[in-house]
Amino acid sequence: MSDLILFWHRRDLRISDNTGLAAARRQSAKVVGVFCLDPLILERDDVAPVRVTYMIGCLQKLQQRYAEVGSELLILHGNPVEKIPALAQALSATGVFWNWDVEPYSQERDRTIINTLKEKSIQFLSQNWDQILHSPEEIRSGSNQPYTVYTPFWKNWISKPKSEPVETLENAQGLTETEQEIAKQAGVEALPSAKDLGFIWDGGLILSPGEAAAQARLEEFTTKAITEYQEQRNFPAVDGTSQLSAALKFGVIGIRTVWQATTQALENSRSEETTAAIRTWQQELAWREFYQHAMYNFPELADGAFRDTFKNFPWETNEEHFQAWCEGRTGYPIVDAAMRQLNESGWMHNRCRMIVASFLTKDLLINPQLGEKYFMQKLIDGDLSANNGGWQWSASSGMDPKPVRIFNPASQTQKFDPEAEYIRQWVTELRSVDTQYLVSGKIPPLERHAAGYPEPIVDHKIQQQQFKQRYQQQKTAS
Ligand code: FAD
Repeated sequence: MSDLILFWHRRDLRISDNTGLAAARRQSAKVVGVFCLDPLILERDDVAPVRVTYMIGCLQKLQQRYAEVGSELLILHGNPVEKIPALAQALSATGVFWNWDVEPYSQERDRTIINTLKEKSIQFLSQNWDQILHSPEEIRSGSNQPYTVYTPFWKNWISKPKSEPVETLENAQGLTETEQEIAKQAGVEALPSAKDLGFIWDGGLILSPGEAAAQARLEEFTTKAITEYQEQRNFPAVDGTSQLSAALKFGVIGIRTVWQATTQALENSRSEETTAAIRTWQQELAWREFYQHAMYNFPELADGAFRDTFKNFPWETNEEHFQAWCEGRTGYPIVDAAMRQLNESGWMHNRCRMIVASFLTKDLLINPQLGEKYFMQKLIDGDLSANNGGWQWSASSGMDPKPVRIFNPASQTQKFDPEAEYIRQWVTELRSVDTQYLVSGKIPPLERHAAGYPEPIVDHKIQQQQFKQRYQQQKTAS
């Protein structure tokens, strides 16, 4: 039997600080990577071209990384449930290793693959928690229940010691020429471009693909911007956040590496403000984990509202309003700026994600699931757990004990885009309109008309009353 181990990459497109890959290398020097382009995912109707473009770029870089350390990354295209065990069998691999994932689809797929590998007597190692610092079983309440509220989760989560990064893959061996031929016959093919797969993205990428770019961004952020994160993170016109979300989604950087950078920054901190800012960023990483744990423990979250009050909520069906929201034509400058940032760059600032999600659900009274899907169709960092968590939080339908929260677009603009810089950047037709009009949202009709900018499609005051009324009715009924 050969000592070949196939390491199946999924959301861990890197060879550094990768727990499953390090475990594979500890067992054998002959570790070969494999990635399977899964049509069941790629053919869904919520896949963003920008996300696929970034992912393919990361796979290219990963192939280079493997080559640098003496091995290779193989590409398969098809249903992994069949393709992965078939490749392992054709190559007489000793084992297939991978890292575990929280998403319901991945869990089901992995269980099927485990059964097939068992039947073929191929060793597997799958339950490495690599993309999170603590497993969903580890962070539990006093009564051993998963948390449904963030603050106690955070207290527990931060009190636990965190692992150091694991060793980078080095001195590995790839396939022999004969094995490469066998691999080809088992379906291994060249890495296609995003275009080959039918995804066209002509815009730029907020972060260059690959480990080196993610690592450089982490270093840049944790040695500088992190110290002002507390003050700057809410201003969409400012580059005050890490923009590492796509790298974290695809595991282009290891979470232990990220954590270590934050603890290093804490050690270097010389003021209470800086320490608080770093802590706040750590809390964002914990939000990411909170939502992943929630998805693992309550997979029904993926299908809709968590709270009963929202299970049969009388949402509006208004295609025109929904389209106006998608295209950034609502007549509310901050909402339109944010939606245009999403459409044109494939990313949106967190403050604006909250504003537009509140607007869709509380002003347009449209089902958050439509917004959640639209985000997935556009975001470079689109991630089931974080996106679902963000939408359920904004719609008040999720794990959030706070009473119904409604964002007023004008007061959000006054606080977070007081000079209307962000609005002017994205809603270009409003560039020469007075700041006070843009910030208040009350643009005089003549100026609106001259700029070719639409009237507000709804009245915020009336709509929020509508929402509250419906909410009260549902609450009483449920
Ligand atoms: P930073 O502020 O630098 O934060 C660091 C990292 O922490 C992020 O990269 C991200 O991994 C994590 N993080 C930060 N805030 C959150 C949060 N509220 N929830 C979960 N993780 C967080 N994030 C995604 O990664 N993918 C999504 O699909 C997604 N959809 C969202 C939808 C809505 C409606 C809302 C309100 C938020 C959503 N978020 C999502 C969370 C957040 O907006 C982004 O993670 C953040 O804007 C990414 O920018 P950054 O990397 O500069 O973040």
